[in-house]
Amino acid sequence: MRIVVSGAAGFIGSHLCDRLLAEGHAVVALDNFLTGSRGNLAHLRGHAAFRLIEQDITQPFAIEGALDAVVNLASPASPKDYLDYPIETLDVGSAGTRRMLELSLEKGARFLLTSTSECYGDPLVHPQVESYWGNVNPVGPRSCYDESKRFAEAVTMAYHRKHGVQSNIARIFNTYGPRMKLNDGRVVPAFLDQALRGEPLTIFGDGSQTRSFCYVSDLVDGLYRLMLSGERYPVNLGNPREMTILEFAEQIRRLTGARSAIVYQPLPEDDPKKRRPDIAKARALLGWEPRVSLEEGLKLTVAYFRGLHATVP
Ligand code: UDP
Repeated sequence: MRIVVSGAAGFIGSHLCDRLLAEGHAVVALDNFLTGSRGNLAHLRGHAAFRLIEQDITQPFAIEGALDAVVNLASPASPKDYLDYPIETLDVGSAGTRRMLELSLEKGARFLLTSTSECYGDPLVHPQVESYWGNVNPVGPRSCYDESKRFAEAVTMAYHRKHGVQSNIARIFNTYGPRMKLNDGRVVPAFLDQALRGEPLTIFGDGSQTRSFCYVSDLVDGLYRLMLSGERYPVNLGNPREMTILEFAEQIRRLTGARSAIVYQPLPEDDPKKRRPDIAKARALLGWEPRVSLEEGLKLTVAYFRGLHATVP
């Protein structure tokens, strides 16, 4: 297949490009590098089946030649990034997603939207099932991301219903691994950076809020399977192993051998109290479930961050 990937220079986007190329597909990668990084794709420079175009997908653009699939990952994705770029986040989920859907329509290409567990907001149903409509504050600081992705899901379904676009929607839960940005503010890079520097780990709130962390290769495998499926409604992709943020901080200290203290800082507004995917649908439909344990995945991630620390003092 010849596949366009938007947000290709991001953390998940770059790993997906690797997987698509490994499967023998050709990739046309788009990114405007607002929050993505050229370094994430540097190893693909010169690859015969890979082409990188600097493009803001909220602006008009054309792709020459036939396409089989369009994968739309473009968006600031960490709370810090989308709070820094709220308008860009709203634009890319709305106008950007629409342009990518138009591209699918024009080329007769299938379409995969990467949506988010943030569609469930601060969930009142636990674990989160796809049929849950969510508890999103439409005017809170996170709404720029949550509502943008909810719009992206709605416009994807509209293009499917109105124009027959063969679309899929993934709801991605917390994912971690190499190529996360050291300073994107998310808990995995934040704790790892702090632990490797021997600085205190900053827990927001009392650390009783929960998250469930999925290693990036597992997530990418789920995306690939979903992209080849005929499922039009959202599918959760994430690792159902849930822990409190305090437990996670302790795990990071154990794994890195850091003597870092733990300090408590205010909980950001609307920070979800619980999050765990129900992945029964992905298991049944895609034969998918995560394979990499948190311990294994964190070891690989720690090695990557140690490498960064060796080059960036
Ligand atoms: N968090 C924390 N310390 C940090 C960064 C994040 O305690 O330095 C918490 C944050 O408040 C949230 C959880 O860790 O409850 C996961 O945050 P992240 O930004 O990684 O992603 P989210 O799941 O909120 O989108």
